[in-house]
Amino acid sequence: MSDSGIYQHQWFDGTDISLPVGKVVCIGRNYAEHAKELNNPIPSEPLLFMKPATSLVALSNELTLPKAFGEVHYEAEISVLIGEKVKNVTDLNVAEAALAGIGTALDLTLRDLQSTLKSKGQPWEKAKAFDGACPVSTFVPRERLGALDQLDIRLDLDQVTVQAGNSSDMLTGVLELICYCSQFFTLMPGDVVLTGTPKGVGVLRPDQDITLTLANQFGWSARTC
Ligand code: ZN
Repeated sequence: MSDSGIYQHQWFDGTDISLPVGKVVCIGRNYAEHAKELNNPIPSEPLLFMKPATSLVALSNELTLPKAFGEVHYEAEISVLIGEKVKNVTDLNVAEAALAGIGTALDLTLRDLQSTLKSKGQPWEKAKAFDGACPVSTFVPRERLGALDQLDIRLDLDQVTVQAGNSSDMLTGVLELICYCSQFFTLMPGDVVLTGTPKGVGVLRPDQDITLTLANQFGWSARTC
């Protein structure tokens, strides 16, 4: 986060990444156990939605939660920073080569509002794409992590673990997901892909300490307000 308050992608060591800040493509219900906890069917193919660049904020800061629209839920997710244009890709090696870094993110969700919108058959944007709806961590260079299908992600709230998952439990894996997204939306350098949340989502309140951990090795903390 620069002094002006404008979000900018950064590496784990705190240096700026020279990529623009683009859109965020998200996948819903990518872990079967999470689909079940919200009484949703397990999808037969990836369920995609987007958040705009204005939803991105740095996970290292005080996170201001919306107060006027009902419950805010956390969803901890592995995030992927795209480094090269990806369009209509089917080759997993091409998808992997386009990947700049890996991090974590919170897919913040106005759950009450989302339920109302879903019940009316309306789009989710107001519940998922609002300003600040996507706190994202700094990014770990790809080469510093092991296999993409064996990545642990954990969320602690006030020092209690509330979500713990592994990418091996994803219905659609990270590289397959990038390929799938690219059939519909061209991924551009600086775009971010969120890969779905494991079970354990719940309410996020002001004055809570958040710690996200990737691969039991890289950690990020923030506090809500
Ligand atoms: Zn999500």
